[in-house]
Amino acid sequence: ADKKIEKWTYATCGYCSTGCAIEVGTDKDGVPVGSRGVADADVNRGKLCVKGLFEHELFESAGRGDVPLMRSNIHDEYQEASWDESFEKMASEIKRIQDTYGPDSFAIVSTGQILTEGFYTLGKLARGVIGTNNYDGNTTLCMASAVSGYKRSFGSDGPPGCYEDFEHTDCLIAWGSNLPEQHPIIYWRFKEAQEKRKFPLIVIDPRVTMLAQNADMHLAITPGTDVVLMNSLMHVILAEGLEDQDYIKANTTGFDELAAEVKNYDPITASKICGIDEDTIRNVARLYAKAGAAMNIWTMGINQSTHGSDGVVGLNNLSLLTGNIGKKGGTSLSITGQCNAMGTREWSSCSGLPGYRLLENEQDRIDIGKYWGVDPEFFPKKRGLAQTDIFPAIETGAIKGLWLVGTNPMTSMPNTARIRKTLEKLECCVVQDSYLDVETTQYAHIFLPAAIWAEKEGVFTNTERRVNIIRKVKEPYGQSKTDLHIFNGLAKQFEQGRKMNFPDNFHEVFDEMRELSKGRLVDISGMTHDLIEQNKGIQWPYTQEQVDKGEKPLKGGKRLYTEPATFRHPGGRAKLIPLPFIDNNEKPDEQYPFWLNSGRLVEHFHSRTRTGKVGNNNKYSPTPFMEMNPDTAAEQGIEHQSYVRVISRRGDAVVMVMLTQRVPRTMVFIPFHFFDCVNRLTLGLLDPHSRQPAFKQCAVRIEHV
Ligand code: SF4
Repeated sequence: ADKKIEKWTYATCGYCSTGCAIEVGTDKDGVPVGSRGVADADVNRGKLCVKGLFEHELFESAGRGDVPLMRSNIHDEYQEASWDESFEKMASEIKRIQDTYGPDSFAIVSTGQILTEGFYTLGKLARGVIGTNNYDGNTTLCMASAVSGYKRSFGSDGPPGCYEDFEHTDCLIAWGSNLPEQHPIIYWRFKEAQEKRKFPLIVIDPRVTMLAQNADMHLAITPGTDVVLMNSLMHVILAEGLEDQDYIKANTTGFDELAAEVKNYDPITASKICGIDEDTIRNVARLYAKAGAAMNIWTMGINQSTHGSDGVVGLNNLSLLTGNIGKKGGTSLSITGQCNAMGTREWSSCSGLPGYRLLENEQDRIDIGKYWGVDPEFFPKKRGLAQTDIFPAIETGAIKGLWLVGTNPMTSMPNTARIRKTLEKLECCVVQDSYLDVETTQYAHIFLPAAIWAEKEGVFTNTERRVNIIRKVKEPYGQSKTDLHIFNGLAKQFEQGRKMNFPDNFHEVFDEMRELSKGRLVDISGMTHDLIEQNKGIQWPYTQEQVDKGEKPLKGGKRLYTEPATFRHPGGRAKLIPLPFIDNNEKPDEQYPFWLNSGRLVEHFHSRTRTGKVGNNNKYSPTPFMEMNPDTAAEQGIEHQSYVRVISRRGDAVVMVMLTQRVPRTMVFIPFHFFDCVNRLTLGLLDPHSRQPAFKQCAVRIEHV
């Protein structure tokens, strides 16, 4: 393939949040024909996983939308429309719905997939022009608990650690995180570091995941009881005097309240709830607390729970008690899901205003209003509905119009039968996506074809706060437009939008973000697009002051909160927060005797809108399946590769059985990527702080088909 390639273009992978630097090779006609990792990039050092290796196939893959489409009824055929007609129709529908039912009756649900300049512009449009408070992202399905937990503990979102911490740690605990499948290149970074320094890996997961197979200790915890185990580890640490009192005194508040709460979780009591024997709890607590530097990492096993936010706070508590925030190799690091989930958290205004500003903070509203040319009184004074509350509000009739940007709730939301009925109720549904054949498009009145990944330019932020750039590989497919141009086109339909500045040039948008970042935790004022590319990504903060002093962006890894009392709560102290365990999940019973767990496969990403079209990814993983323990299957008379019906209180799905010891006898596991499959069954009870659904914990029964 190399012989055909005339030019390599720099980009950042558009799937997971590892943030691998990638180059796309194009032939003499400008057709993308190859992908390769960037050798001198800090993150991936030339490596790519199976998704990145075939990413160039995305541009010409099947199902792309090439022209705007409209229809007045979802049962009619779509008609082709011009962009002007689409923008006019969409704006008139937004105005009609808002004039009739109120400003918040039109909702927007965005994604973690588009470029940060697009996010920032969408936030400006949603908050400063359209004026709905019901604006959220699909990151509520993956990272909302991490955001909420960081804010509660540290006073701000923002993962404090970095990948380089693997190279300095003395102990790693992975909670509900299966790196080899979810984040293969982070796994490779960890594995390389572990081979050199031989630190222990402890995996906490009810399933024997690929990571658990590589662990020194695997704790097969009872689903939904992480907080009990965390409290018990802290109980042992405090009972044996293993905490770091100097760090606690200098950096935290709330120690006495936390200590009083964890007294209730001695290992004998905790063991009965979380299913981990008492000696193991003690051993893990000692191993973790006595390590010089120790890391907690987590992914959806913690976040997608009825107490996901508490789980994140629990890990922060553990890290703070042992002085493991702000030092090399000691951190509490959420391994993010989507390629730009971080960018949306920083700049999209979904739950606030750009640059980690809050709607609840008057000065933040004034500052942004002044900068954008919007009366600060136009902004709501607290955040509106999360994505998971927007759909119930459609059911009740409070929301009549919905704009979905790069998200596919017909596959990704829990209880999809309910979502189907909900979408049918909308007076106006707009789907903006690169693919016309995403399942949710069936319910749209307007379809806006969006340029995909490297058909546009801008930045992503990855798990370790590294901002990296995507350069344009080719022009947008057909008549599709970049998200930035779509948002700007719509803004011009509104009088307020015409008064404000909506630059079409992504450099100008980035300059606005740089200006607004000055003095914030997420300070990117020292970065430019060219500097980011030259450095193959730069971690924030990187400030204009550093540039003025001649400080180059740091190679390796940069941490937050490295100086005492620099947390973002008033007084600079992090909060130690007591976490009483509330047992509120749907659990297996006589009627529905199995836990249902769900998760990712290495070949696929989210609802397969992209990887389902890319030949190699699909060849390796073409069909959904259900993992089942062979002993349980024998009891039920179920054979390997037979088909069964899985039934929950919400719905049913027919899947092929894969017999494996990966799952305990009481559990089945189904990957979440496939349409009309596991999310027909999931309950999705919501975390009270983050509103994130508990995808991984519900009860099912199995029947022969
Ligand atoms: Fe892309 Fe993630 Fe794979 Fe890296 S690990 S190539 S970022 S999907």
